[in-house]
Amino acid sequence: MATSTLKKTGNSTRIAIIGSGFSGLGMAIRLKQSGENDFIVLEKEAEVGGTWLVNHYPGCACDVQSHLYSFSFEQNPGWTRMFAPQPEILSYLKGCADKYGVRPHIRFNTELAEARYNEETAEWELSTTAGETFTAKILISGMGGLSRPSYPDIPGLDSFTGKAFHSQQWDHDYDLSGKRVAVIGTGASAIQFVPQIANQVQQLDLYQRTPPWIIAKPDRRIRQAEQTVFKRLPRTQAALRSAIYWMLESRAVAFTLNPRLMKLAQRWARSHIRRQIKDPTLRAKVTPDYTIGCKRILISNDYYPALNRSNVDVLTGGIREIRGNRIISNDGSEREVDSIIFGTGFAATDPIGPLQISGRDGVDLKQQFHKTGTEAYLGTSVAGFPNLFLITGPNTGLGHNSMVYMIESQITYILDALKNMHEKKLASIEVSEWVQTDFNRRLQARQKDTVWTTGGCRSWYLDENGKNVTLWPGFTWQFRRATRRFEIRDYHVQHKPRARRSKMAKAA
Ligand SMILES: Cc1cc2nc3c(=O)[nH]c(=O)nc-3n(C[C@H](O)[C@H](O)[C@H](O)COP(=O)(O)OP(=O)(O)OC[C@H]3O[C@@H](n4cnc5c(N)ncnc54)[C@H](O)[C@@H]3O)c2cc1C
Repeated sequence: MATSTLKKTGNSTRIAIIGSGFSGLGMAIRLKQSGENDFIVLEKEAEVGGTWLVNHYPGCACDVQSHLYSFSFEQNPGWTRMFAPQPEILSYLKGCADKYGVRPHIRFNTELAEARYNEETAEWELSTTAGETFTAKILISGMGGLSRPSYPDIPGLDSFTGKAFHSQQWDHDYDLSGKRVAVIGTGASAIQFVPQIANQVQQLDLYQRTPPWIIAKPDRRIRQAEQTVFKRLPRTQAALRSAIYWMLESRAVAFTLNPRLMKLAQRWARSHIRRQIKDPTLRAKVTPDYTIGCKRILISNDYYPALNRSNVDVLTGGIREIRGNRIISNDGSEREVDSIIFGTGFAATDPIGPLQISGRDGVDLKQQFHKTGTEAYLGTSVAGFPNLFLITGPNTGLGHNSMVYMIESQITYILDALKNMHEKKLASIEVSEWVQTDFNRRLQARQKDTVWTTGGCRSWYLDENGKNVTLWPGFTWQFRRATRRFEIRDYHVQHKPRARRSKMAKAA
C-alpha cells in the first residue's frame, strides 16, 4: 500500500518525513487532518512506534504519566496504569496510525541514508540505504534524539566471549536464569530492568559510574471504573491531564530559575534512599554528590530493594578492561561473567546519527553542528538548510515534563510554515543566520543559571565542550508560545518561478 503513494507521484513527493515515532506519526496525522496527502514517511523499522517499538526490555515504561505522555488530540481513557508499560504505549501508537489512516503513507524498512538540497530545483534529493532515490520539496526529521544506543569505550570489549547486548536491543531469547550478569550503567533504562532480572540471575554485578537521584514513583493501577468515567466524561481526563501538566511544569522554577529550590527535592530523594536501603555502605554508594536534577531525576519503587539482594553487587571503582569473560576493575579485581547488558543510554547530543544531510552550497549538517555547536532556531530550523524542519532538534529536550508537548508545539509551527509557503507561493524558506544566532545567544545565556549547568555533574545533556545542546532552558509553555505562529520575517524566502515572474511584471 505504501509503495503506491510513491509510485503515484513518480518518486517525487511534496513532503518527506523521517521516522514514525511520536514525532513522525504526529506530523503525518496532523498533515492528513489539514488535507495534505502528498507526503511519505520513511521508517527504517518494520513498524511504527520509534522509541516504544525498539525498547522492549523488561520493565520498560514511561516516566511521565500516560494521561499527559500521549497526543492531545487522541487521549486514551483506557490506560491501565498511571505510567503505562511499553507494550501499551506501542499499541496506542499503532492504534493512532490506523485510526488516522496514515499507514498507506509509511514506507517501512526504508532507511534514509542521504539528503541533499538542490538549490536550482529547491528540492531535497533523497537516497535510501537500499539505493532508492526520490525528491521532496520539504524534509521533516522525526528521527528522535534517543534512538542511537551509546556504548562505553572499554579496552578489550571486542574480546568479550560471552553474550553482550544493549538494553535497546534486548535479546528475549537469551535466558538469563542462573547466569552471572554484568550491567554497565545505572541510568533511566537500567533502573527499570535491574529489578526485573535481579531475581532470575545467579549474580548481578552492577557497574555504576555516577549514581542517579531517584524518587518514589507515584504509580498505580487505574481501575476499570475510572477508565469508564474517562470514556464517558472526557473532560475528567482532560482535567487530570492538565493537573499533571501543571504539577510537572511547576518544577521548571527550580530547574531553570532557582536551583537552590532543588534542595527540597533532594531531601525527599535522600529519605527515599534511607527508607529503602539499610546498609550504610550501599547507601553511600548510591547517594549522588551533585544537585538533584543536574542529571535526569529517575522514579522507581523497586530499584533500591533490588540492590539490597544478596546476589547483587554495586561496583563503583570503574572498569579498566575486559579480557575474555572477565571484567577487570581499576583496582585490579576480576569478575567472571556470562553476559554483559549495556544500560548506557543513547547518543543524545548527536541528533542526526549516520544520516548525511547537505544543505545550501553542499554544507554538511553534522560538520556545521560540529563547527558552531549543535544549534537551530526554535530547535526546528537551521540556517543554510532550506525547507528542512527538525522535530526534537537541538534544545527541545526536557528534564521535567512530557516530550509529546514539545513535539506537538513543533508540529503546529511546521504546519503554519507550510501554510505560509502555500499561501505566499514560496519555493523555499530558510531561517536567517542572525535570527538563529541571536536566538541561541539568548538560549545559552538562560542555560547559565539552570541546575544542568550549576548542579556539579557531567550529564548527557551537555556536549564535549560542556554546552547544553539538548534541553530547553525554560517553561514548556514559553516554547509553545514561541512556536504557535510561524513568523516569515525570521526567514529568507524564495518565490516560485511563476510568482516571481508576475511580481517582476507588476514592478515593470
Ligand atoms: C526508554 C525510554 C523511555 C522514555 N520515556 C519518556 C517519558 O516517559 N516521557 C518523555 O517525555 N520522554 C520519554 N522518552 C523520550 C522519547 O524518546 C520521546 O518522548 C519520544 O518517544 C521521541 O519520539 P520521536 O518520534 O521524536 O523519536 P523516536 O521515538 O526515537 O522515533 C524516531 C524514529 O525515526 C526512525 N529513524 C531514525 N533514523 C532514520 C532514518 N535515517 N531513516 C528512516 N527512519 C529513521 C527510527 O527508526 C524511529 O522509528 C523516553 C525515551 C526512552 C528511550
